[in-house]
Amino acid sequence: MPVIELKNISRSYRNGQVFINALENINLSINEGDFISIMGPSGSGKSTMLNILGCLDRPTSGTYEIAGRRVEKMGDSELADIRNQLLGFVFQSFHLLPDLNALENVELPLIYRGLSGSERYKRSVKALKSVGLEQRIHHRPSQLSGGEQQRVAIARAIVGDPKVLLADEPTGALDSKTSESIMEIFQELNNQRGITIVQVTHEKSVAEYGHTIFHLRDGKIEHVENVIKQK
Ligand code: ADP
Ligand code: ADP
Repeated sequence: MPVIELKNISRSYRNGQVFINALENINLSINEGDFISIMGPSGSGKSTMLNILGCLDRPTSGTYEIAGRRVEKMGDSELADIRNQLLGFVFQSFHLLPDLNALENVELPLIYRGLSGSERYKRSVKALKSVGLEQRIHHRPSQLSGGEQQRVAIARAIVGDPKVLLADEPTGALDSKTSESIMEIFQELNNQRGITIVQVTHEKSVAEYGHTIFHLRDGKIEHVENVIKQK
């Protein structure tokens, strides 16, 4: 079942008299439980695509349906609801709050949901456990390695039980060995919890953790690559 369906999505930007088509007639269907990677040269539309998928931006034309809800015409507050209820975000630079410890960072999205303190604690510890950080819950970001910080960010992204995890260069700030361990966590979330994952990456070895790689060029899907897993 598709959890995400983009039909004829275009997004153009106006620069004075000039229009730039950042995305042109994109059709994309992502099933529940998929693990998708998006690659492409700089300027090919990756960020625009992720911003639209993440309900941070609206397409200029076309339709976007996520979990059966049409979002392309929604207003800002409805889009914020979709982000809070259905999506989790992971970034290249972690985006943790430096004055909060790991646990408090992970609890943040739950505060907006009005959950009780004990419920927040329970869920956040569980999320930190699932990324292997139960021994570090009282550490601040500055006391953690890059890989550990990204694991806190992943715990924060999944603590609200999102349907889809969106990741923007999740390994861009990490060495290759740490990158592998982050991808193994993504694999586990995907295999064992059925979370749908969409990641943008420059690194082929990271992209290949996905089942399918979409190669963007000049705002179009140039090539769809099915990853053959070799074990
Ligand atoms: P990528 O993430 O692959 O580098 P982007 O989605 O950032 O690509 O950009 C796609 C195209 O849209 C580029 O030509 C870029 O210059 C243009 N673009 C992106 N954002 C804006 C903006 N806010 N205003 C004008 N042009 C933009
Ligand atoms: P980097 O990955 O280089 O650190 P950022 O993480 O700052 O870059 O931004 C990546 C994209 O995520 C941006 O295009 C931005 O619009 C989007 N973004 C920024 N803040 C949020 C947020 N709170 N929730 C979801 N997306 C965000």
